[in-house]
Amino acid sequence: MKNDEELIKEINKCSRCTLCLSICPMYQVAKDEIKSAKGFLNIIYGILVNQIKYQKNIELICLNCNKCQSACPSNINFIDILSNFKYHFKISNYNQFLFKTKFIGFSIFFKIYKIFNLNYFFKNNFISNLCLTSVKIDKNLNQITKKKKVVFFEGCFNHYINSNSKNSIINLLSKNGYEVIVPNFGCCNINSYFEGDFDYYKKSWQKKIKKISKDVDFILFDCDTCLKSFKIYVDRFDKNLNLKVLSFIDFLEQKDTRFNQNNDYNNLIYHKPCHTSENNIDILNIKIKNLKNVENFDKCCGFNVLYWVKNPKLSKKIAENKFKDVKINPDDTIITSCNLCRIGLMLGLSQLEKKKNVKVINISELF
Ligand code: SF4
Ligand code: SF4
Repeated sequence: MKNDEELIKEINKCSRCTLCLSICPMYQVAKDEIKSAKGFLNIIYGILVNQIKYQKNIELICLNCNKCQSACPSNINFIDILSNFKYHFKISNYNQFLFKTKFIGFSIFFKIYKIFNLNYFFKNNFISNLCLTSVKIDKNLNQITKKKKVVFFEGCFNHYINSNSKNSIINLLSKNGYEVIVPNFGCCNINSYFEGDFDYYKKSWQKKIKKISKDVDFILFDCDTCLKSFKIYVDRFDKNLNLKVLSFIDFLEQKDTRFNQNNDYNNLIYHKPCHTSENNIDILNIKIKNLKNVENFDKCCGFNVLYWVKNPKLSKKIAENKFKDVKINPDDTIITSCNLCRIGLMLGLSQLEKKKNVKVINISELF
């Protein structure tokens, strides 16, 4: 945890060069410097040196995409500054009770939506597409002898909204002789970390870790944001934790696993989530058939739950901006390795008449 002096020292590295503006998804759409790392750093600095009085209407919330750091000549880790600042000033936007309640509310809504086929009342079918669960767990695969054990981290999306990815992974692993354990971990709580509620974040991961038995071969994540949350926890609070974790893309490299790609999807385009640290495209090019390279497709999808709740219009515009000047056909399928990006991408596509039928799936659903 950084104290005020350390934060001021970090912020003083900012040369006001403005290079972070052009890459920031918020600035790209809002064209307002106050919605960028540079603008936020000025405000935080002002509060830290008592030039500005903190007021609740000062909105310090962003997508935490970390793109600004990649453009910054001083390598300023803006997300780290923001979360530490919020921790010190106790100004977290994260209320775990409200967050959980809202998610449960959404899940009930999705269930009712599906049962009563409420498509009729909506202008587009964004919600029905989002929660359409077409993959079932194949119970016959239980008879296959299991020699390996894996824990799958399902996260909120699989648990509450759409379990296609989880079910595909369970089927794939079962076919290949894995016993799959899916503990009730709840949310990865990455938002509580970014919002500076470090104590809650740490406790929530400690509880999750206790649910993992020592004899598992590895923990598998289908969502790079959940995986990032795990990695932050280990890096910041539990350095000696010795657990093997794999993203689904890492898992594609397992030599003893048979992957039969589903031929229902023809032209595939990969959306790299901002929270993906590795360059996965080489693995995907080898392991996935029909992968297309599309130019200018590296922008952020604009979705982060808290940001979307506070700024739904801007979040939608950022998602829409992702598809501006990008060549995508209606029969293409976008694959991604983050379940939140899936929501952002679908929100963006739903705004565009010619592209609204483009499918978005998790990579795991290809198998
Ligand atoms: S983390 Fe992303 S959204 Fe936030 S200021 Fe940096 S580039 Fe902009
Ligand atoms: S790129 Fe880095 S140094 Fe330049 S204005 Fe942005 S935060 Fe400051």
